[in-house]
Amino acid sequence: MRIGINCGHTVSGQPGCGAVGYLDESDETRRVGKRLIELLRGEGHMVYDCTNDYADTTLENLSEIVRMANAQPLDLFVSVHFNSGGGKGCEVYTYGGKSFDEAERTCEAISKLGFKNRGIKDGSSLYVIRHTDAKAMLIEVCFTDSASDAELYEKIGSDAVARAVCGAIGGKSKEELTVEQYEELKSEINGLKPMIYDYIDDNMPSWAKPTVQKLKDKGFLHGDENGRLGLTHEMMRTLVILDNAKVFG
Ligand SMILES: [Zn+2]
Repeated sequence: MRIGINCGHTVSGQPGCGAVGYLDESDETRRVGKRLIELLRGEGHMVYDCTNDYADTTLENLSEIVRMANAQPLDLFVSVHFNSGGGKGCEVYTYGGKSFDEAERTCEAISKLGFKNRGIKDGSSLYVIRHTDAKAMLIEVCFTDSASDAELYEKIGSDAVARAVCGAIGGKSKEELTVEQYEELKSEINGLKPMIYDYIDDNMPSWAKPTVQKLKDKGFLHGDENGRLGLTHEMMRTLVILDNAKVFG
């Protein structure tokens, strides 16, 4: 997907910067948003950073964000914010409050981290929602002026929020394996026994069935004393190749 990510407002302390309560919105949107960009790129998405750090006015900041977003076709535009004004939890704004998969999954993923799910809301009056060409959503992760939201956010960290959003909008977020975990996984896989097919039933791959049936019918395959065929994938593949070469008539 081609995704535009906007880390909220200008940098902290500048005209057009975000809310400050227990958390500084401008700082935290950058922590979450920049990590989200990395994660989505790691998933193979084409990601455009639509963040504007400095502007003389709020309107200048907003129009610059929209200019960056509309500079190329996007499948999705995501603006990351933190809320304020007395409340708790996460919400996602879309045009007309319309629900779509990415918006719904984002609410669910952030609320799974422990924040209240305030749901999808009408963001038609929000500048970046109204003026961007792509399907757009604005995420309010949680409230900067809620002590309990801030405490939870500090506890789980920006990386967890970025991973949750990445999983919600860009498919699964890959867990990075440590060398030890990788070695463990590798030895586990190496220790696995190959799948054995004893009978011509639903478990047997359909590409193998006609050949195996034919060899049974012709008496080439008997199996053990209990009639178990004991065939691996590799063996069946070989038998099919030989059968296609008319070795069995
Ligand atoms: Zn904001």
